[in-house]
Amino acid sequence: MSIYISGIGVSKGIAIGEAFVLAREQVDITQRTLAASEIKSEIKRFKKAMKLANKQLHDIKKKIAKNTADDILVFIDTHLLMLEDPAFDEGTIANIREFSCNAEWALQMQGERLVQVFDEMEDPYLRTRKDDVLHVVKRIQTALLGKEDVHDGISYKGKIIIADDLTPADTIMMQHQKVAGFITEYGGPLSHTAILARNLGIPAIVGLHHARHLIHRDETLVIDGLTGVVINEPDKKSLKYYRAVKRNETAKRNLLNDLSGKPAVTLDNKQITLHGNIDRPADIRTIKKYDNTGVGLYRTEMLFIELNQWPDQQTHFKTYKRAVKALEGKPLTIRTMDLGADKEIQDTIDHGPMAHNPAMGLRAIRRCLKEPQDFMPQLLAILRVSAFGPVRIMIPMLTNTGELDQVLALIEDAKQLLTKKNIAYDKKIPVGAMIEVPAAALAADAFASKLDFLSIGTNDLIQYTLAIDRIDDEVNYLFNPLHPAVLKLIQMTIDAGKKANIPVSMCGEMASDTLYTRLLLGMGLEYFSVQANSLLEVKHIIVHSTLTTLQPEVEAIMHIHDEEEVKSRVQQLVNLL
Ligand code: PEP
Ligand code: MG
Repeated sequence: MSIYISGIGVSKGIAIGEAFVLAREQVDITQRTLAASEIKSEIKRFKKAMKLANKQLHDIKKKIAKNTADDILVFIDTHLLMLEDPAFDEGTIANIREFSCNAEWALQMQGERLVQVFDEMEDPYLRTRKDDVLHVVKRIQTALLGKEDVHDGISYKGKIIIADDLTPADTIMMQHQKVAGFITEYGGPLSHTAILARNLGIPAIVGLHHARHLIHRDETLVIDGLTGVVINEPDKKSLKYYRAVKRNETAKRNLLNDLSGKPAVTLDNKQITLHGNIDRPADIRTIKKYDNTGVGLYRTEMLFIELNQWPDQQTHFKTYKRAVKALEGKPLTIRTMDLGADKEIQDTIDHGPMAHNPAMGLRAIRRCLKEPQDFMPQLLAILRVSAFGPVRIMIPMLTNTGELDQVLALIEDAKQLLTKKNIAYDKKIPVGAMIEVPAAALAADAFASKLDFLSIGTNDLIQYTLAIDRIDDEVNYLFNPLHPAVLKLIQMTIDAGKKANIPVSMCGEMASDTLYTRLLLGMGLEYFSVQANSLLEVKHIIVHSTLTTLQPEVEAIMHIHDEEEVKSRVQQLVNLL
């Protein structure tokens, strides 16, 4: 009998295969009190386990290095770095001495301490990095038992792995052996397993509690990594259906891969610019995996968050230079820091009385203008890297042109400073603004007259237009890119750019969703900046669209008031030839 169960789909795609339930030996972490004479040998035992764990990770790296991209290997490097961090060994050795306890227990205590540090972090991505601490602790504890790596001698080819949790090393090793898919009991969409599975293109489902009890070895499974549905022992009819879906998926992927490196030109010959969004220079490798193109949005605040402070000019410079070099002449749009709301660091700025609504508070450019001396190093660094390749400056969260005038004056000051010191920079560096506050969209004409480009940030534009917090699940049902008010603001921004003869791009999530590609093309958008894994899907729609057919249809949609009708008309655009 078929059983349907579901978890969180985190890496799309259909996988069909036999279940392989990964049974891990539980590590004994009971506390033992040691005699004073045993302390020295316990520390020696711990150091030996650290060495073994280190060797296991290096061996994995060696085994897979030849055909694995650097951005994947980096996940193993993170664990190697943790193993070398004094926080692990010095802390644990101090515990062995202080509590006269066994190494497993001393390490467990130290691990819990480090996990707490990550737990208290505001940023959801960094918070999930506590998983790495837990994985490293477990690896050392297993090594303390003198065990070999859990994967030695096992073949995973074509299997669907069921595990409590997977480390990045597990995931990479299994991918190397051509595993079909993953199901884990724990983890969320931001866990490393989820990120890696997406990077590696392996269908994956996480958070399926009790999966190891519900599914048994060698049972046939179908997993849908998009919806999170698992069918255990599917009947013949379902199996036939999912095999056909999988064949279609493969055919579509091959079709998309053929578009890599080709221009994004509509059927009536309009050249569209299609760039990618990044958070770090390393993300450029992911973009290149899909398409050799530029960057329309580099969210620099990740650098601040990872350092938990405002970086100095040299750190900004070195980081951005890495991005410019990696792009090899393709354009890089660097957005100045957008800290605030859901992206925060514990800095030293006095933010005044507790903000009740940080999304409307001292965020992004507002914060930079309050502390121009802290903002200046970022501006100077962006100008300096503009000497090494095509770079554009983009300002987030502008509300009025007064703010813009202040930013432009600061950029002018930075230029003069560099000129005085004889430091090279692009004297004509384009400066643009994100249009993501409704007031800025309504006044887009005024912004356009002072700038070289505009970029529509729909994630914020929608939240501020519809008065819904973008990270509050309770009001998520109101989030609608097709609300007529949102569409009007987007149209006004595109029109303002055309009137001023400057490019207008869109870098919010709406640009990455293929449901909206034809609508946006019909509205006159000529520049999309999207998630790396949407590059080819968006390009596929562009190259199969005819602007002259879309324009009258979209014009009619812009006059509809009913949101449901707008949605149904936008869905119909997909079928238009
Ligand atoms: C946006 O608001 O659409 C945007 C691209 O910026 P972020 O998501 O970083 O706020
Ligand atoms: Mg934004």
